Amino acid sequence: YSTAAAVEEPIKPTVNVEHTKLFINGQFVDAASGKTFSTLDPRTGEVIAHVAEGDAEDINRAVAAARKAFDEGPWPRMTAYERSKVLLRLADLIEKHNDQIATLETWDTGKPYEQVAKIEVPMVVRLLRYYAGWADKIHGMTIPADGPYHVQTLHEPIGVAGQIIPWNFPLLMFSWKIGPALACGNTIVLKTAEQTPLSAFYVANLLQEAGLPEGVLNIISGFGPIAGAPLCSHMDVDKLAFTGSTDTGKTILSLAAKSNLKPVTLELGGKSPFIVCEDADIDTAVEQAHFALFFNQGQCCCAGSRTYVHEKVYDEFLEKAKARALKRTVGDPFKSGTEQGPQIDSKQFDKIMKYIRSGVESGATLETGGERLGEKGYYIKPTVFSNVKDDMLIAQDEIFGPVQSILKFKDLDEVVRRANNSRYGLAAGVFTQNMDTANTLARALKVGTVWINCFDTFDATIPFGGYKMSGQGREKGEYSLKNYLQVKAVVTPL
Ligand code: NAD
Repeated sequence: YSTAAAVEEPIKPTVNVEHTKLFINGQFVDAASGKTFSTLDPRTGEVIAHVAEGDAEDINRAVAAARKAFDEGPWPRMTAYERSKVLLRLADLIEKHNDQIATLETWDTGKPYEQVAKIEVPMVVRLLRYYAGWADKIHGMTIPADGPYHVQTLHEPIGVAGQIIPWNFPLLMFSWKIGPALACGNTIVLKTAEQTPLSAFYVANLLQEAGLPEGVLNIISGFGPIAGAPLCSHMDVDKLAFTGSTDTGKTILSLAAKSNLKPVTLELGGKSPFIVCEDADIDTAVEQAHFALFFNQGQCCCAGSRTYVHEKVYDEFLEKAKARALKRTVGDPFKSGTEQGPQIDSKQFDKIMKYIRSGVESGATLETGGERLGEKGYYIKPTVFSNVKDDMLIAQDEIFGPVQSILKFKDLDEVVRRANNSRYGLAAGVFTQNMDTANTLARALKVGTVWINCFDTFDATIPFGGYKMSGQGREKGEYSLKNYLQVKAVVTPL
């Protein structure tokens, strides 16, 4: 690994943190309690900024602002074309501020600056433009009912949407949430993850210039049980959209059920299989399997975290996968060429190290890595385990770190059975040169996305979501719109 950068003095970010207060009704305001919490630099564990800590009272204020903006404000009433222009202007502004946003996001998350500036911010911009395009293409139907009636459906915004996002892709998840909700004419209260509040506040400061009326998008920073839970229980929130862990997803669903039965969309965890068939192009499969697992420090919901390799190509694959992990450039995420930065925080770091110990104790072979890198921050050496068995914890739980688990299989029926034998069902990768094999696996795998000879190919148009305990509903693409719309049937006698 390139270890040097991890132990060097951290590079100083070239942006000031200007916005650390809650964004309610178009204004940056202190938390009602006056409390703040620290957001930390994952490279060092040092404080970047003190951020307003929202609680139930702030959620009440934000929901009231969103309700007023929905019931009385111009947003749901303006033409859909006007709304689309606001989203297009917001996309332009984010594009213009790419460097500042990417710098803040890197500082707050530890993910490589180049990844944020070249991949994530452009994806945010693309997504907002895509949903801007939808705004004036949302329409109902006329329906040929059995009787002398004119029947039409109106697709109306659902109202106030509560949205809760995680820390692994803060701004990208922010855009997945706000894009479709705004295109449909809803208003929003969004809670950021406590680890990564900064980029959303930066964007909040651009909303007025984009032309978004006050109260339409309110942003609350704070902790899950303190600020997130009251949002989920709120009687005046009409819909919830959540991305995060499966355990929290269950809590959110029950809070929604116990309050006003608001509909809930959930994007949760995963343990995605990555299947390398005997006829796969091995070099491509090695590179893509490496990317599928190690991208974003392994902190991806859809990480290819069970690498199943056919026994005939297993030895070659393993040798090359290990060599690739050893070549991975780990270090300061602000340094050009860095592939892997630190993990998000000490809690995740400790959790990953625990899983690594469990892998060793349960008899998997530690091929490389398995240790902390440097003395400061939360860097972990890219880790590869071979001889992994399905019943080991490292093959069952979401590790959310740079730990690749390689398993051997003999035939397709067996690998389908084993791949599907998981409580999760978010995504899968299939590597083969045979169309029949690809089609067979694509149909047999119980997951929301199958990537064939590629992985992590995302676009605003492609729906994403999970089977089983990986979630409920789909985000992105046309599918996301129905999360934010009510259908009203209007019946008139002829
Ligand atoms: P988390 O569930 O701990 O937290 C996610 C969000 O939920 C945070 O904003 C947190 O403050 C909030 N929260 C926590 N407890 C809450 C409560 N009781 N009530 C309301 N809100 C609460 O998850 P995390 O550790 O931040 O994120 C990692 C997880 O997210 C992983 O499991 C990952 O797979 C998943 N994820 C899924 C997707 C997807 O699209 N399926 C995308 C990214 C991340």
